[in-house]
Amino acid sequence: MLSAKTKTYDTIVVGAGISGIATAHKLQQVGYDHYVVLEKASRVGGTWRENTYPGCGCDVPSALYSFSFAPSYEWSNLFAKQPEILNYLEKVVQIFQLQEKILLNHELLDATWQEKQQCWKLQTSQGDFWAKTVVFGTGPITEPSMPKLKGIESFQGEIFHSARWNHDYDLTGKRVAVIGTGASAIQFVPQIQPLVKQLYVFQRTAPWVLPKADMTLNSSAKSLITQFPQIQRLWRGTVAQILNGINFGLRHPQALAPINFLGKQLLKLQIQDHVLREAVTPNFDIGCKRLLFANNYYPALQQSNTDLIPHGLVEVQGNTLIASNGQQHEVDVIIWGTGFEVSHPPIGKRVRNNKGQLLSELWKNSSPEAYLGASIADVPNAFLILGPSILVYDSFIGIAEAQVDYIVSGLLQMKEYQFTKFNVKPKVIKQHNEQVQKHLQTTVFNSGGCKSYYLDENGKNFAAWPWSLATLKSRLKQLNLKDYDLEF
Ligand SMILES: Cc1cc2nc3c(=O)[nH]c(=O)nc-3n(C[C@H](O)[C@H](O)[C@H](O)COP(=O)(O)OP(=O)(O)OC[C@H]3O[C@@H](n4cnc5c(N)ncnc54)[C@H](O)[C@@H]3O)c2cc1C
Repeated sequence: MLSAKTKTYDTIVVGAGISGIATAHKLQQVGYDHYVVLEKASRVGGTWRENTYPGCGCDVPSALYSFSFAPSYEWSNLFAKQPEILNYLEKVVQIFQLQEKILLNHELLDATWQEKQQCWKLQTSQGDFWAKTVVFGTGPITEPSMPKLKGIESFQGEIFHSARWNHDYDLTGKRVAVIGTGASAIQFVPQIQPLVKQLYVFQRTAPWVLPKADMTLNSSAKSLITQFPQIQRLWRGTVAQILNGINFGLRHPQALAPINFLGKQLLKLQIQDHVLREAVTPNFDIGCKRLLFANNYYPALQQSNTDLIPHGLVEVQGNTLIASNGQQHEVDVIIWGTGFEVSHPPIGKRVRNNKGQLLSELWKNSSPEAYLGASIADVPNAFLILGPSILVYDSFIGIAEAQVDYIVSGLLQMKEYQFTKFNVKPKVIKQHNEQVQKHLQTTVFNSGGCKSYYLDENGKNFAAWPWSLATLKSRLKQLNLKDYDLEF
C-alpha cells in the first residue's frame, strides 16, 4: 500500500473504470511512474461493476469494445455480456500489473487547486492526497436518472433502477412495471419477461431498435481466433469502418433516409399486430438518439403476459400506476429503465476551479464545456476523460484511449519543459465550442426531431462531437502547448 498524505504525486488519476485503467497503462508504458489511481469502490470496472441487470452487455462488438493494447480472444459472444467485460477489465489490471497503483476504497470528496504550492489537494475518504496534476476518469454515464413522480412515496412494493439491480428480490410471479425503453430496458425486458406474471412496459418515446448481429463463440471458434489473431484484428477494423459509415450518416442526415425506410420495413416483419407496431414506431429520425440493437426485445413485447403502454408514467397512487392517458395498472414492482443523468457529471460536486468555486455550481444552469472534452476553463493542471462534446458513434474505449494519448503527451511535455501550471486559454475553449455548436446544427442529433440525452435542459447538445472520428483522433494526437497558458 502506498502511504497517503506526505508525498506530492506527479499525477493522480481518479476512477478505475475503462478510462482510469487506460490512463494507468499508458503512463506505465512511457515510464511515467509517479502516479496513483484513486477508486471509490472496492473493485475496478466502473460501468461494468455497477450495471449488473439481467442481459447487460455492450452494444458495440467486443473486438472494438476492448483496449487497443489488450485484445481478448476469449469473448463468448461477438457482443460480450457484463460479467465477461468486468472480468476482462480485472484481467487487464493484473496482466499489466496495475493493481499496486490502484488504491481501492478511496473516494475523492473534494479537489481544490492550491495556487501557492501549484498543486491539487485531494480530500478523500482515506485522508488527503497531493498532486501536481489530476486526471478525472470518473465516468460519463453513472448517475441513475429517476423521475420525480407525483405520489411515488405511496408505493408499497419493490422499486429499483436498472443500474442498482436488486438481485435479492425474486421477480418470479410478480406484476412488474418497467419505466422507460432505453438501452438498458431493451436488454433486461426480454430477460425478465418469462419470469414475471405481468409486465407493463411504459414507453414515452419509441426508440429505434435494430437487429443485433450477435453470435455465440464456442471453444473451437475461440481457439481459432487465438491461433489466428488477425481474424479479430480484421473484425475490429471492419466494425470500425461500419461505425465510420454510420457516423457519416449522423452528420449527413439525408444519407440516413433509406435506413429510416428500411428500419420501418423491418418493424413490419418483426411485429404483426399493427396497433403494437404503430406504438413502437419511432417518430424521429434514426440516429437522433443512440441506436439500440436487440433481437429479443420485440418478441418479448408480443408475449401474452406483456403490455406495452405507449405513454409516460405520470402518477403513482399506492400500488396503482397512472399513465399520461389515464390508464391505470396495479403492480408489485417498479423498475426504472430511465437511464442516466449525463448532462451534469457528478464529479462537478467534488472539484473546484482556481477561484474555489464548485464546478457543479457553475454548471447549475447549463451543461459543462471543455476543450476537446478534456480541459475545463479555470481548472488548471487537470484533465477530464469522456467530458463534453466528444461522443462519436464508436466504442467509448477508443475515444477514451485517444484522449489519454492527448493527456499523456501533455504530462510528458510538462516534465520536458518544466512548467508548473497549465490552463486552457479562454479564447481557445470559446472558439472551439462555438465551432462545435455551429457544426452540430446540421447533424441528426440536433435536427432529427428527438429529445435525447445528448441535449441538456436548455436544448443544447453538450455531448456529441460534430466531426469524424478520424478528425477527433488527429486533434487528440498531441497536446498543443499553444492552446494553454503556461507558468514556469
Ligand atoms: C449499461 C451501459 C452499457 C454501456 N454500453 C456501452 C457500449 O456498448 N459501448 C460503449 O462504447 N459504451 C458503453 N457504455 C458507456 C460506458 O460508460 C463507457 O463505455 C465506459 O465504461 C466509461 O468508462 P469510464 O472509465 O470513463 O467511466 P466509468 O466506467 O463510469 O468508471 C468511472 C470510475 O470512477 C469511479 N469514481 C467516480 N467518482 C469517484 C470519486 N469521487 N472518487 C473515486 N472514484 C470515483 C467510479 O467508481 C468508477 O469506477 C455503456 C454504459 C452503460 C451504463
